Parts: sequence; C-alpha cells; structure tokens
Amino acid sequence: MADPIVHKVVIIGSGPAGWTAAIYAARAQLQPVVYVGVPKQDPGPVLPGGQLMLTTEVENYPGFPKGVMGPELMDQFRAQAERFETTVVEDDIVRCDFSQRPFRLHRADGPVVLARSVIIATGAQANWLGLENEMRLAVSGGGVSACAVCDGALPAFRGQELAVVGGGDTAMEEAMYLTKFASTVHVIHRRDSLRASKIMQARYLSRPNAKVLWNKAVVDVVGGEKIEAVVLEDTVTGERSQLAVKGLFIAIGHTPATKFLAGSGIELTAKGYVALHARHSATNIPGVFAAGDVADAEYRQAVTAAGMGCQSALDAERWLAAQGVD
Ligand code: NAP
Repeated sequence: MADPIVHKVVIIGSGPAGWTAAIYAARAQLQPVVYVGVPKQDPGPVLPGGQLMLTTEVENYPGFPKGVMGPELMDQFRAQAERFETTVVEDDIVRCDFSQRPFRLHRADGPVVLARSVIIATGAQANWLGLENEMRLAVSGGGVSACAVCDGALPAFRGQELAVVGGGDTAMEEAMYLTKFASTVHVIHRRDSLRASKIMQARYLSRPNAKVLWNKAVVDVVGGEKIEAVVLEDTVTGERSQLAVKGLFIAIGHTPATKFLAGSGIELTAKGYVALHARHSATNIPGVFAAGDVADAEYRQAVTAAGMGCQSALDAERWLAAQGVD
C-alpha cells in the first residue's frame, strides 16, 4: 500500500547533510520530508542525527567559537529545518525502488512513500572493535572516540598518553594529528606492517612522540567514568599486557549506510559508498542525489557533509524545475 501523496523531495538521513538539504529544499518551497531513522545497535550505536550524536564537544564547526556539544548542534540543525516547511518522520527507509516514477520508498513501519526526487544522506558509521567498555566510554564521553580530528584537541587529551587503533591511512592521519597535543601517541596495530601508504607512515613516524605497538589487539578498555588503560593481547604470542592511556581513538575504517539501497539500481563504489556522477551530487539515476559521508570516503567532516547537503538540494531543485515541477 502506498501513501497517495507524491512528495517533491524525500531526504533519507538526518545528519548535517540531511538537515542542510532540508533547510535548502524547504526554503525553495519543495516541502521536503526527512526520514530521520530510529535508534539502533548496528553493531555500535546508531542514532537519528548521525555520528555527531556520539560526540561530545565539537570545536571545528564554524560559527561556534566556544564549541558546541554534538547532540546540541544536531538539535539546532533540526530546529532550523523545522522552522521552514519540513516534515520529519521518525522511521527508517529500508528499501528503495527507483525503477518506476514516482520513486517508491519502503518504510520499516508505514505505507510506501512516493517521491519525485530523493536525497540519500544516510552517512557512514565508524567501525568499532565491538568491546562493551569501548562503547560505554565512547557514548559517555569517557575518552574513547572514533574521530581524532573531532575530539583530539579537547583539553582532556592535552599532554597525555593517547592510543590509536588501526594501521591504515586514517590511523596515520589521526595519530599524526594527535602528536600535536599528546605527550606520546601509541598506534596499536594487529600485524607487523602497516596498511597505510608509505608517505603517511613516514610522516607519522617522523614525529618525536610517535610510537607503534606491533602485533597487538585491544581486547578490553579499563576505566570507570574515564578511560585509564587498554588491555592488549599479542597476536603472535597471546600474551596480555596493559597500556595506561587517557584517550583511545578507533581508526579501523568506516562503513557507509547503504544496505537499504541493495537492489535499487544505485551505483556504489568498490567500497560501498554511493557513486556520484556528472553533477556534484547526482547519482547514476536521474532524480536521485546523495550527500555527506554516504558518498564521501575522503573528508568525512560535519561541515563538508553540510556543504554537500546544500549542493544536493540545489541540484534536486534544478532537476525538478527541468522536469516542470516547482
Ligand atoms: P583501511 O585502509 O581499511 O584500514 C583499516 C585499518 O584498520 C587496517 O590497518 C586494518 O588492519 C585495521 N583494522 C580493521 N579492522 C580491525 C579490527 N577489528 N581490529 C584491529 N584493527 C582493525 O581504512 P582507512 O584507514 O579508514 O582508510 C580508508 C580509505 O581512505 C583508504 O583507501 C585510505 O587510503 C583512504 N584515506 C586516505 C587518506 C589520505 O590520503 N589523506 C586519509 C584517510 C583515509 P589490517 O591492516 O590488518 O587489515
């Protein structure tokens, strides 16, 4: 059963990209509908509002010279979108059919949604190790984070021993960033060689306070309100040890939220991100646009996602106008 209303723009996702797209689409009088999703564990926490809902203080979003808490920033994004004519629906889109027009979007809990254009802004999730104490201290702001660029400059981490898990370019980039603030940075890697590009490895290793712990897996995080140490297991000998740290940054990759696009005909990159075509936010299907981390493995910042959200709404508006819809 489909809801008979055909929406001009449906936005799937409620992070900086989705809300910015909504603000622009609403002000263009396209009456956007935003599907914000519902809270879930997948395997880490996923909340409407996206990754900033799992961050404490955000110091690098322009316009907030004193910083702003991640969840508060997302509330403000939402309030700004709702100030104009944006409809907010607390449900997931679980399947998309872009083979017919209007497009048909299947909800987790409700009738099929009809849309002339769609903006995919479902973001990406940082991968986590999956440890209970890791999650607890990440959600409570206890010194575990999946984004050093977002959180690493906070006063709690300055002059402290910090650890980064992972051996790829992101781990190098995050670890390098942390060397500016930390007394020592320990990259903890499960093998005896890094996956990161040689140039990124060299840059990190050239820092005087940069260390690498080889063949080590983090098997637990110790701490009550704040992290105190990580428990390491040697991946060759199985020997266990503890490393005292005041911050743990997980940099083991991201997974874009594109499962719901399976079978929809939307082209994805080899790594599962939405592939953008020709125009800035256009996908391979005319009328379907994408913005933010779901289509960006490179920058992954709130401000870049917001910029892409703006582009996607402008692109959707122009595309609709060309179809005679305004
Ligand atoms: P990645 O290249 O997939 O590396 C992930 C790293 O995490 C690997 O070293 C992997 O170990 C480790 N890992 C994965 N699962 C783990 C687990 N459960 N426990 C412990 N370690 C685990 O991901 P990425 O570093 O996020 O990079 C993603 C893409 O973005 C890459 O193409 C990268 O080149 C690019 N990137 C580029 C730049 C830049 O050029 N400035 C910066 C950031 C990212 P193994 O090595 O053992 O598999």
